[in-house]
Amino acid sequence: MSSDRITERANKVEASGIRRMFELVASMTDPINLSIGQADFDVPEPVKEAAIQAIRSGFNRYTVTQGIPELNERIVQHYRESYDFRPESSLVTSGVSGGLLLAMLVLVEPGDEVLIPDPYFVMYKHLVNIAGGVPKYYDMYPSFRVTREALESQITEKTKVLLVNSPSNPTGAVLSADELTVIADVARQHDLTVISDEIYEAFVYGPRYRSMCQHLSETLVLGGFSKTYAMPGWRVGWAVGPKDILDAMRKLQQFSFVCAPSMAQQACVAALDVDMSEYIDEYRFKRNLVFDGLKERYSIVRPDGSFYMFPEVPEGLDEKRFIDQAIKHDVLLVPGSACSRRATHFRLSFAAPNDVLKRGIDILDQIAREAVS
Ligand code: PMP
Repeated sequence: MSSDRITERANKVEASGIRRMFELVASMTDPINLSIGQADFDVPEPVKEAAIQAIRSGFNRYTVTQGIPELNERIVQHYRESYDFRPESSLVTSGVSGGLLLAMLVLVEPGDEVLIPDPYFVMYKHLVNIAGGVPKYYDMYPSFRVTREALESQITEKTKVLLVNSPSNPTGAVLSADELTVIADVARQHDLTVISDEIYEAFVYGPRYRSMCQHLSETLVLGGFSKTYAMPGWRVGWAVGPKDILDAMRKLQQFSFVCAPSMAQQACVAALDVDMSEYIDEYRFKRNLVFDGLKERYSIVRPDGSFYMFPEVPEGLDEKRFIDQAIKHDVLLVPGSACSRRATHFRLSFAAPNDVLKRGIDILDQIAREAVS
């Protein structure tokens, strides 16, 4: 039911296609759920212990808005050690979602255009709309790479912000040094602010990951704990970058989110000491298992990062019929149109136990075979 007291801003936001999958899961007894956007392992023990310790010791009050100093120091250290980059400033946010919202609110005036990738993470266009901006899409099909032409074809005098997401949700693409250089050049030439969502930086299976900040020191980089340490419910992320932007974000955080959860911030200091490389090796195995299992019958770009791949809907089916077929066999996937203006692909998450992945591969193989017969 629509109500005229609800703002245009809120009415513009449609329910996520992924949310519908959540509802379906609840009604199924043994779903093969390949629609999940969070790691399938549990929070590492030392991180849990640190949170419990924090609560027991009475660390339950507001923290300073920018986040506790120990955590900010560790975040800055991460950029120094991993990317030889010294951020001007840092802010602990309520997840990367919190950072994205604040970034949009401080950078986007009503009518400003924001370049976002297509395919995209579902939240981006809605956040641009909430800020009163206009989402414009740079096309990354078919190989999910960034080109100067795709970026420049969308730039007008109103373009203000360029959003980058590597490793990508939903494609798994990781931008190369050459692509990051192109983005930095285009941003300098057209005076755009780059927001780089690097929440999947730990989930990289190919060459060493490069951050946007190594190519453009003015980048606003958003990162977080939700994916790397399997703690999306704890709501902690960060923003690092230019001081003027971070000062403005901190000001808005003070009157909205206030601070990220206190005990979770303490636990995140401990998280940054945990070596996650074994977990990432397992995810590389999962990536190979699913890619090798599907590549004969599906057209897929092999993902180098995150825990998603974005294959084409098999020949002989359209998106809706394909997703319906999958659901009939208890397989849950995200339709491509939930993360793109096109309805030609689907998002498969391999953040699931290996036996579930194997069952999923068999059914998807069967669906593709039946579609052409
Ligand atoms: N960016 C991307 C690309 C994501 O996939 C997600 C989570 N699905 C987020 C941001 C939000 O993460 P958080 O839990 O830190 O808010």
